[in-house]
Amino acid sequence: MTLGDTHTVRSLLRARRARPLPLQAPPPVAARAKRPDATAAHAQRADGNGQPRPLLRGWLHLFFLLYCTAVLGGARASPVPLHATARRFTAWTLVGYAGSVLFHMAPWATQRAYTLALVFDFVAIQLSFTGQIGSLVGWGHAACLASALLTLWLLALCAAGLAGGAVMWQYRRHTRKCLVLGQIGLSMLVEACVIRHKPTALVIGSAKFMGFHWFAAYARFDAPRSSGLVLPGVWHDHDNFHVIATATHALQIWATSTQAGW
Ligand SMILES: [Zn+2]
Repeated sequence: MTLGDTHTVRSLLRARRARPLPLQAPPPVAARAKRPDATAAHAQRADGNGQPRPLLRGWLHLFFLLYCTAVLGGARASPVPLHATARRFTAWTLVGYAGSVLFHMAPWATQRAYTLALVFDFVAIQLSFTGQIGSLVGWGHAACLASALLTLWLLALCAAGLAGGAVMWQYRRHTRKCLVLGQIGLSMLVEACVIRHKPTALVIGSAKFMGFHWFAAYARFDAPRSSGLVLPGVWHDHDNFHVIATATHALQIWATSTQAGW
C-alpha cells in the first residue's frame, strides 16, 4: 500500500464517519417471507409506506369510536347522568380513536399524506393519555403535568421530523418508545391510585403491559415474526394489538363509569 493509498483510505473512513447514518427503508413486503401476510396479493392494498393494509384494519377502532360517542350521547339523555370524571375520561379516549381511525382507514396513498396521518395518530394517542390522566386527577396534578410534558415533547419531536423531511415511522423510534412508556407508566400509577376496585386496576395495568409487548414483538411495521393469529389480507398482528388496546379502554371506561362517589 502506497502513501497515496493510505490517504485515500483515511479520507474514505473520515467521510464514512462524517456522513449521518441513512434511515433504513422498511423491508419490502415480499422479502418478509416469515410473515403470513407477505404475498403480492396483499401488497396491492398498501399504505403510503409500502406496508400491507388488511381489509379490516381500523374497523374495530371505528366501532369503538362510535361506542364512545354513544356512551357520551346516552349519558346526556339518561336520567342518571354519567359522572363528570367518567364523561371526560370517555371523551379523551375518543380523541385517541379519532386519530387511529383516520390513520388506519383512509387510503393514504402518498408517502407525505401517510406521514402526516401517522404524526396525527402519534399526537392523538399522547394527547389521549394526558386527557385521561387529567380527567382522573385534575389538570394541575403533577401526573397530568408530567404527561402533558411528554405529549409536548412528542409534538416537538414530530415537528422537527416533519421539518427535516424525516421518515416518521422510523424517526427517533427509541425516544418515541420512551415517551409512550412514560405515558403508560403514569396512567398505570394514576389508575392504581384512583380506581377503587383494585383487581380491575390490576387487570387494566396488566393489559397495558401486555399490549406494549405485543406491539413490540408482532405489531410494529418491521416486527421480525408473526404471532400466527392472523388472516392473511384481512386481519394481521397489528389488528390483534388493536383488540388488546380496545379491550383495555373498554374496561377503563366501564371502571370509571361504574365507580360511585368520585
Ligand atoms: Zn394501529
